[in-house]
Amino acid sequence: MKVYLNGDLVEEADAKVSVFDHGLLYGDGVFEGIRLYDGCVFRLDEHLERLNRSARAIMLDLPWSREELSEAVCNTCRANDLRDGYIRLIVTRGAGTLGLNPMLCKDPTLIVIADNIQLYPDKYYKEGLKVITVSTRRMNPGAVPPKIKSLNYLNNILAKIQAIQSGCMEAVMLNDQGFVAECTGENIFTVSKGVVYTPDTSAGALDGITRQVAIEIAEEQKVPLRETNLTTYDLWTADECFLTGTAAEIVPVTEVDGRKVGEGRPGPITLSFMKEFRSRVSGDGTPL
Ligand code: PMP
Repeated sequence: MKVYLNGDLVEEADAKVSVFDHGLLYGDGVFEGIRLYDGCVFRLDEHLERLNRSARAIMLDLPWSREELSEAVCNTCRANDLRDGYIRLIVTRGAGTLGLNPMLCKDPTLIVIADNIQLYPDKYYKEGLKVITVSTRRMNPGAVPPKIKSLNYLNNILAKIQAIQSGCMEAVMLNDQGFVAECTGENIFTVSKGVVYTPDTSAGALDGITRQVAIEIAEEQKVPLRETNLTTYDLWTADECFLTGTAAEIVPVTEVDGRKVGEGRPGPITLSFMKEFRSRVSGDGTPL
């Protein structure tokens, strides 16, 4: 596999960064997970826009133009002969000293990895996922704004550990006020009485690209959708529930905290959103 590292496409074994890189030492950096469908990079502009916002929020100046970043992404896919896959675009603060001072990191590190995609196994798209509300809270915006897609995912990793230990694939994370924020790597939606609900990004949810696609599908299918505060009670009593994310796409949830969601199988609105999502992604986006 060829990996893009600071302007060069190098063999995986040669794709090495300094042990003084603040991405490694402090999780100081930002990233994007992007999909390649049938030779087109899906919503690349939106991903580069979000990367830019994350970088600005942590005062990391990106020395590359939008075109250069786009080329780095496309060239990495081409170099690996990929038509479908998952792309990880990473920008770290770069190599500095062992101290925290980010001003001592002169050049940010740019990495692009393009690989085959590992989705949830097929059975979860047919039968739905079991999720559990965990005690680990989503980051308080007064600490690290959760809209920043930063390299520091420890918060989410602790939540994921709790879910796995409970026999679930995903964790529902609440915010400091006890409202539902999102899952560890996906946004969350419910359906009740024909209305689709999802937490507002101000509740601690990432401004997900797939979330946005689901909102567009709702508009097109004339299904009412509200961005609002959700409680665990709302999850427990929903008719349907699904998650959205670049890697997972749209995946149904059929059990929350041991309670069956609706009939315990993917509901009609979820299934229709999944179908529409699959039909619109293929060949849509920036061609390689
Ligand atoms: N929330 C979190 C915490 C995530 O890491 C992700 C995946 N990037 C998402 C939501 C989903 O966002 P997207 O649809 O842009 O992949």
